[in-house]
Amino acid sequence: MSVVSRKYPELNISDRILLSAGPTNVNPRVYKAMNTAVIGYGEAAFSPVIEGISSMLAEVFQTEKNFTMALSATGSAGVEAGMSNLIKPGDTVIIGSYGFFCEQMAEMARRQGANVVLVDGEWGRALPPEQIQDEIKKHKNIKLVGMVHAETSTGISQPLEDISRIAKEHDALLVVDGVTSLGGSEILVDEWGIDYISSASQKCLGCPPGLSPVAVSELAFQTMDRVEKDISSWYFDLRLIANYWGPDRSYHHTVPASMLYALYEGLRIVLEEGVENRFARHQNNTAGLRAGLEALGLNVLSDEQNRLAQITPIAVPDGVDEGKVRQHLVNEYNTEISRGLGRFAGKVWRVGLMGESSTRANVLHLLSALEHILPQEGYEVAVGAGVSAASKFWSAG
Ligand SMILES: *Cc1c(COP(=O)(O)O)cnc(C)c1O
Repeated sequence: MSVVSRKYPELNISDRILLSAGPTNVNPRVYKAMNTAVIGYGEAAFSPVIEGISSMLAEVFQTEKNFTMALSATGSAGVEAGMSNLIKPGDTVIIGSYGFFCEQMAEMARRQGANVVLVDGEWGRALPPEQIQDEIKKHKNIKLVGMVHAETSTGISQPLEDISRIAKEHDALLVVDGVTSLGGSEILVDEWGIDYISSASQKCLGCPPGLSPVAVSELAFQTMDRVEKDISSWYFDLRLIANYWGPDRSYHHTVPASMLYALYEGLRIVLEEGVENRFARHQNNTAGLRAGLEALGLNVLSDEQNRLAQITPIAVPDGVDEGKVRQHLVNEYNTEISRGLGRFAGKVWRVGLMGESSTRANVLHLLSALEHILPQEGYEVAVGAGVSAASKFWSAG
């Protein structure tokens, strides 16, 4: 044996307050569910898990039409699965571009050999549907229109109804990245006519990362039948995966039982709270945060009209080292927030209040921490002003 054996310490990672763009805090009931015994994916005793998840997902996605299941992978894979199943090389696709995850979706489409037409918007604003309308007219045979619903990089909620109508008028499928939306803000899959939408377990569902819930329309499945090539990914062939999630329960791959137990419990918690109450909680806690940030003189970058409750992008004040502030938060306050992505890198902090992490206590904790940290990093604030403004906001509401 030539490889020297070392000693490996037991893992020692303690709980943190996760106010980042994900992962978010995991509900203790979810951790408990993950302790459930692993059994065979084809056993009768496992079926209620699969059926329960599919049915609860249909409720949260608000769909009676689309087929709902969870892919064994993270959010990005869910988006990529949509692209790889629906696109054949040479297809023209239209992608709205107004943030980091939009660009990522476009890149995934490009790698499927699509002719990608980007409709450029502004980072921090929603894309006006007229821009999609103007562009779509210039092309024939558009396979799909791809949009990010909750753009986590910019804190924008993209309205989809008009864009759906435009896509339908041109016989294009509507494909949506709903990674940050599911469980945090309204998604009406049937009403908005979404053909394919994917999400992730670790944003607003209170679960660890590792699963990507999806909802697939009949039209999307028919399109896959017509793609006239093998889906480039065998593992993410949605029709094969649907054969496991459907009544046949045909083997495709060994599903990650512990993660599915987690998602099952996470969805039960979402429905116990009630989706409407949950959305209201996300809105209200973030509104308190914004009031506090404003009192500290900090700027929220997302356009007020389409602000996302899940994530708040804050402009880093001139002269402040954004990384150092995050380090203080981790080291002294046991709290994570996110850095900016893409063209927002170094200029923006992103505060996530998603799922379990969206609480008033977390908002007050973060504001208080920032009041102490920012002056040390050269940005003076009126200590107490942020916490006070948030409290006043909630008292008035
Ligand atoms: C987090 C995120 C993703 C990527 O999901 P992973 O689980 O990290 O793969 C994709 N799109 C959006 C909008 C996201 O917020």
